[in-house]
Amino acid sequence: MPETSREFLRRDQQHRRRYLRGLSPPRLKSPNIINKQVYGHETRRLAIQTLRHSIVVLETGMWAERTSHFSLSGIREMFALTKPGAINLGLGQPDFDTPTHIKEAAKEALDKGYTGYTPNKGFPELIDAIASYYEQYGVQTGQEQIICTSGGSEALHLAFEALINPGDEVILPDPGFVAYAPLTHVAGGVPVSARVSADDDFRLQPDTVADRITDKTKALVINSPANPTGAVQRHNEMREFVELADDHNFHIISDEVYDKILYKGKHVSPASIDPDRVIVVNSVSKTYAMTGWRLGYAIAPAAIVEEMLKVHQYIQACAPSISQKAAYAALTGPQESVRSMVDEFFARRSAVMHHLKGIADCVTPEGAFYVFPRFATSDTSFDITMRLAQAGVIVVPGSAFGRFGEGHVRISYAASQQSIDLAFQIIREQVSAR
Ligand code: PMP
Repeated sequence: MPETSREFLRRDQQHRRRYLRGLSPPRLKSPNIINKQVYGHETRRLAIQTLRHSIVVLETGMWAERTSHFSLSGIREMFALTKPGAINLGLGQPDFDTPTHIKEAAKEALDKGYTGYTPNKGFPELIDAIASYYEQYGVQTGQEQIICTSGGSEALHLAFEALINPGDEVILPDPGFVAYAPLTHVAGGVPVSARVSADDDFRLQPDTVADRITDKTKALVINSPANPTGAVQRHNEMREFVELADDHNFHIISDEVYDKILYKGKHVSPASIDPDRVIVVNSVSKTYAMTGWRLGYAIAPAAIVEEMLKVHQYIQACAPSISQKAAYAALTGPQESVRSMVDEFFARRSAVMHHLKGIADCVTPEGAFYVFPRFATSDTSFDITMRLAQAGVIVVPGSAFGRFGEGHVRISYAASQQSIDLAFQIIREQVSAR
């Protein structure tokens, strides 16, 4: 039996870990074990690249150990493996253009010469606009409590850096967004997975979190609406998370980047329950179709923002000036484009749920633009995903989001209705053929 690329990569990781713990020298075999007839040239190229990288890390001790705890996101891996012309249902960004009035504001900012550094925390008027935006969620905040960053990604990184000491534990939803565990490692912390289950519509349960708390718990990450499941937490659950944080003296990092992509009810930020316990992370990426502009922010108690600012100042200096001007226009300008984008996502969600009938178990997502089905097959997520990629549809293996994602795949409906319909013809054939 040829070794699959997944097995190979897992074994490679194990070798690295053992070697780093001083247990055994590296005994890495030739990458010829990757069967290129089965998995193709690209997988083999990736495997060889990983192998070479491992050997250099192991034999020279050249790079920091902390980055050896994780690899490049499985999502990127998937894109690298796919043939040209495949239908892409792997995307983590809206398939819409940034609204015109936002682009105009950026052009105007360029013409007016906003091309230099800005205050480290961001333009004061943008900070005011963020504070006003959060009033709709009952969060009272201001200049001292907000920092603008290079995307929500940087805000997440700063939050981990500000809170985590080596050995501190961070409770993470599993399956959950791919960045949380690596960022925990980068900060020297230990990720602790809290299972989210289809039985609870993938909502993180306060009891599950309570079971995972120890005296080393320093933070809990909540993501609502969630990537990759589309789950939306209820107000009472948020209240219980905050109570747990109060009782056990840890902080909540609340990732709210999908706050507006919500199909029913109103977004709940735990910061509206207790702002002293919560670091909110958000960005304009998803709401205003601005992923490439790299503009995010964090809202946190002033003392934490101060610590985040120290790191931000040295790694980033400031968020991009033109993007800050554009984000200001986004937050303060007309919101019609957001409504029509969400309406379109809602229509596509219905289409996707319809297509999944009879071929998969799938919780109906209440937000974001992903579904997280489990197909009726005993194949691994990775194998299903590979098969679909070879048949011309890109989706992401559920295992990329944590061990409890195994068996599922993430399908993004940030793609045209036509592409979705076409993709599901292929998916249906591939899944029914087993
Ligand atoms: N959080 C979640 C849950 C996400 O899905 C993403 C992007 N995929 C981010 C944070 C980061 O987004 P950005 O850096 O573009 O704001």
